[in-house]
Amino acid sequence: PVVFPVYLVALTATCLRYDPRVCVVTGLLAAAQYGAVVVYAGTHWTADASFSWGDQISRIVLLLAATLLAAVIVSRSVRLRRLSSYDALTQLHNRAYFEERLVEELLRASRYGRALSVAILDVDGFKQFNDTYGHPAGDAALRTLAAALRGSARRSDIVARYGGEEFVIIFTETRVHEAVAKLDALREEIGKLSIETPRASWPGRLTVSAGVASWPDDGAWPDELLYAADDRLLAAKRAGRNRVFGPRDRGLVDGVPNAGR
Ligand code: GH3
Ligand code: MG
Ligand code: MG
Repeated sequence: PVVFPVYLVALTATCLRYDPRVCVVTGLLAAAQYGAVVVYAGTHWTADASFSWGDQISRIVLLLAATLLAAVIVSRSVRLRRLSSYDALTQLHNRAYFEERLVEELLRASRYGRALSVAILDVDGFKQFNDTYGHPAGDAALRTLAAALRGSARRSDIVARYGGEEFVIIFTETRVHEAVAKLDALREEIGKLSIETPRASWPGRLTVSAGVASWPDDGAWPDELLYAADDRLLAAKRAGRNRVFGPRDRGLVDGVPNAGR
């Protein structure tokens, strides 16, 4: 009487692995093992009056039903987890996921003393693009840009849509000058992309500006890094757009020292 509930508890615990295959394999193994115990008991302990084949078979059916339920619940929660961390338009990660990962990656960087850079990218003159070609073309442009960002990033980099026409990238184990060089190449590539626009017979072109900051030079906390990167993005915009600014580029903005920002 004590053993059977333990099977159900163990099966429930497998849900914590967030993998329906683990639930199914554990459930089938549990049913097979319990079934073997029942067959052994039923054929060897014939004198035990409390033994009932009917009760034992319904317990095995219960185990299999619990396995099926666990697998379905886990598949649905995996789907929900995916929906809650991705942006519907671009299929990049969303801001909530990015913020969570930035904290984790900063902790990792400081624990192992590894470099980490963060970039904020903003599409130049996107309001004008929307006004000229329409919002569906704007959406298509954001999807094209997102694919280019994802395509150029390493597997370990985290690319997300920060909001509207702004994107963020966490470059793990990357020094700031390496991140700036990488982004600059990407900026050139984006400038050459042709975006299908139904309202005009020629394809649309877009450029991006970006600001880059790094751990530990620009701070130890996510807010400090994002503030520094945003500061440099603003400087890049004011300097004429279509450029990537790192730490050394923020000296003058519109002829005014920018150090206090
Ligand atoms: P700047 O070069 O200074 O960045 O100018 P900008 O026009 O890009 O900046 P602004 O902030 O004035 O405009 C951003 C525009 O982005 C306004 C908004 O309509 C558009 N936008 C934001 N999100 C979406 C979206 O999901 N789809 C489309 N089509 N447009 C979007
Ligand atoms: Mg913007
Ligand atoms: Mg913009």
